[in-house]
Amino acid sequence: MFLDVKELAVRKLRIHKFYPPGTIDYHTEEFQQTEPLEVRATAELVDGEIRLRGELHTRIELVCARCLDPVTEEISREFDLFYRPMDSIRTEEDAKLDTDESEVAFFEGAGFFLADALAEQVNLAIPMKAICRSDCRGLCPQCGANLNHEECHCQTHAADPRLAQLARVKQTWCKKQ
Ligand SMILES: [Zn+2]
Ligand SMILES: [Zn+2]
Repeated sequence: MFLDVKELAVRKLRIHKFYPPGTIDYHTEEFQQTEPLEVRATAELVDGEIRLRGELHTRIELVCARCLDPVTEEISREFDLFYRPMDSIRTEEDAKLDTDESEVAFFEGAGFFLADALAEQVNLAIPMKAICRSDCRGLCPQCGANLNHEECHCQTHAADPRLAQLARVKQTWCKKQ
């Protein structure tokens, strides 16, 4: 869907759309959209700027920062964005582009694709570090074993007191057999 500044000058646009996985280019390999992205928004022209306001919802898959297993994250985000035509920079002094205006984005030509704006919003909503579960034990730094799934025999990883206790229980149990 293309948001055309000339069309928006005629009428405000109400949007309710679903983007299946693979239809939005996120320009990154770090995560994948796993469910249709739903967007409800309005687009309108306000003082020569395109105002895009609404919310999006989807699910993405990325890798656990500790163990590299896949992690699914729910992404919900509200947005209220202003897009200014690129031509307006040349007519106004550049000095006006101070820090207050950092929230304003620009578009070139007749408008921009809604999918591009959504891709940016999803990228902003991605957690810096995803962890598969709060007690994820990660990978053994020595042999690379995923310590959630298997025990390795390296000595390097810090001993967990709970595990030491478990090991003792296991030992006693083995002796009884
Ligand atoms: Zn993990
Ligand atoms: Zn190991």
